[in-house]
Amino acid sequence: LTITLLAGGVGGAKAAEGLANSPFASATKIIGNIADDDEFHGLWVSPDIDTLIYSLGDQIDRQQGWGRKNETHQVLNELTVLGQDTWMTLGDLDLATHIYRTHLKHQGVSASEITQRLAARHGVTLPILLPTDDVVQTQVKTPKGWLSFQEFFVREHCQLDVIDIEYQGIESAKPTREALEQIANSDVIVIAPSNPIVSIGAILAVPDIQQAVEQSGAYVIAVSPLIGGKTVKGPADKMLESAGKSIDSKGIYDCYHTFLNALVIDEIDQTDTAWLTEQGLDVLVTPTLMKTPEEKADLMSRVVEFALSHK
Ligand code: GDP
Ligand code: CA
Repeated sequence: LTITLLAGGVGGAKAAEGLANSPFASATKIIGNIADDDEFHGLWVSPDIDTLIYSLGDQIDRQQGWGRKNETHQVLNELTVLGQDTWMTLGDLDLATHIYRTHLKHQGVSASEITQRLAARHGVTLPILLPTDDVVQTQVKTPKGWLSFQEFFVREHCQLDVIDIEYQGIESAKPTREALEQIANSDVIVIAPSNPIVSIGAILAVPDIQQAVEQSGAYVIAVSPLIGGKTVKGPADKMLESAGKSIDSKGIYDCYHTFLNALVIDEIDQTDTAWLTEQGLDVLVTPTLMKTPEEKADLMSRVVEFALSHK
């Protein structure tokens, strides 16, 4: 059995943890998102990949959902005193990750290999693959002009309207062989309840990746990141709107319809079932908010069991 999880940051990590604590752990590999990457203080930061690694390694700050637990901020405070822009919160332990990543990057080590080494340091057993080893960076067009994803997300607190989104560098990005093979060999592809535009969309936009998903014989099942037409956290609603999609199950379906077999929606969205079924989808209706480790493992186990029984 081969299972692939396409995952962004916080929503992706919840799904990843659920699978890691399910009977399907040893069959699962993750493909993560690198398009939120950015450079701060000369250091290469890969927020979604680090969120996956810290979560699976139980080093995440559970309250925030990102960053290291038991973190301190001495370096950042000193950088502030030095007059640097420090709106991107990078703790001392977290900075070690970024120093290490940047150092290896300068030595010519691939992003995939760096990810593997960091994952090993944190005892992460689910393999984390990257869609590409090249640099792809999401840019968000707002009334204030084009911003990097972190400028939009962190500095501007997602408050600006989204006019357009671009994945800078995507045309020349090469997919990794590992990601393409993993997708092609999958029995089940699970799409985490992640942002469909900037997390999952950025993975699928890497040349050949979406095509690989469409052409694989896998049963593709997505967990909706919307509950009652709202995001649990983050700007997925604004981004769906800017892409001309509705902020509901139909909008999620529109993002994934060329390859989707099933959508998992929350109980409170039960009335969407009829329309989704008409589109030919299998629908799993269940509580989809994951807070505790048990809720994560329980939902993700049922998602895979549902896929296997409908395949
Ligand atoms: P980011 O990279 O940190 O923004 O995280 P992702 O792209 O992986 O996930 C963001 C999405 O996860 C948001 O749209 C949230 O609505 C969704 N999300 C977060 N937690 C949950 C949850 O427990 N259940 C569901 N269904 N969606 C969630
Ligand atoms: Ca992200």
